[in-house]
Amino acid sequence: MFKTTIPFYNIQPQNEVYANELDQASYQIIHSGNYILGPYVEEFEEKFAQYTQRKHCISVGNGLEAISLTIRALDLDPKKNIITAANSFIASALGITLAGKNVDLVDCNPSYLFDTNDLKKINPENISAIIPVHLYGQMADMTQIRNWAESYSIPIIEDSAQAHGASRDDQTAGYKTAAATYSFYPTKNLGALGDAGCIVTDNEYLANHLKMLRNYGSIVKYEHDFLGTNSRMDALQAAFLTIKLKYLDEFNQARRKIAALYNERLASISNLSLPQVEIGSTHVFHQYVIEVNHRNELQKFLTEKGIATLIHYPIPIHQSKAYKSQLSHVRAPRTEKFASRILSLPIWPGMTEEMIEYICQSIQKFFKT
Ligand SMILES: *Cc1c(COP(=O)(O)O)cnc(C)c1O
Repeated sequence: MFKTTIPFYNIQPQNEVYANELDQASYQIIHSGNYILGPYVEEFEEKFAQYTQRKHCISVGNGLEAISLTIRALDLDPKKNIITAANSFIASALGITLAGKNVDLVDCNPSYLFDTNDLKKINPENISAIIPVHLYGQMADMTQIRNWAESYSIPIIEDSAQAHGASRDDQTAGYKTAAATYSFYPTKNLGALGDAGCIVTDNEYLANHLKMLRNYGSIVKYEHDFLGTNSRMDALQAAFLTIKLKYLDEFNQARRKIAALYNERLASISNLSLPQVEIGSTHVFHQYVIEVNHRNELQKFLTEKGIATLIHYPIPIHQSKAYKSQLSHVRAPRTEKFASRILSLPIWPGMTEEMIEYICQSIQKFFKT
């Protein structure tokens, strides 16, 4: 029987594919003397814009700042709220707070995504922008969200930090919206070897504004047109990302294959719901999330079998200590229910069929006893 422990995430099989290329790139950059912004960053921005089918890509320091800087660049009414998803990583909300705006949250649907039905309960008069999240690797229903937002002229920023390479109805994030933001945190589907992020957009004015905002409000050295900040990408990270981008589709395909194996082997368990892929959606499985009865007991059982799992996320944003008092009005019963019932299984390129078999057998064993 398979004995080794299975980590929740292991980057090594991916690293082996491009290790030589990363070595060469770091050597070149060390000796170039050019470490922040510059040609390597411009090359990555060009390639990622092309990959995401957007006109512009503006690299920044991380995914959180990608959100907060985009909000700042849109110059929104400070008295109104910005809506994001209750079922998300805290950064989706924190980006709003850090840009000096008020957060409001909507619940998720059974696919764990931004619930478009919940939008109907919201008074658009109070809303200055909306930030749907493409969670776990799957895009939210942008057609519905755009229909709602466009009828009130509310700009949309798509938090795509978990959805590099995803599409829905043949459209990628940022299609007919203000912008889409990405994180290149090392464990994302496309990850740097440190912190990095970016914004993609078809809006030239927004792109130029963001380029200045990330660099002290300046495009010409020492000329500062407005109050910017420092959120720039390193040449090293850009060069690494340009290399890794070439393999993104291949690795996303590997994730989908693992998801298909899980689906096949877990389908017969009646106490367990498989992740739903929406019609027309290309899911890139940043996470493989199941919903189960007795989640905590299952997680403990799997730990004892040497299988690491995580919960995304155990405490909904509005129930976290950080947001509890200011978001006490939020009603998100589905998000709250999922927080006690969902479990993320390991999914990383390089996992073997033997590992997946062992994980599925262990889950079957748990539900039989
Ligand atoms: C990772 C993540 C972010 C933040 O990215 P950082 O680069 O860690 O700042 C934002 N939103 C979501 C949904 C994420 O998963």
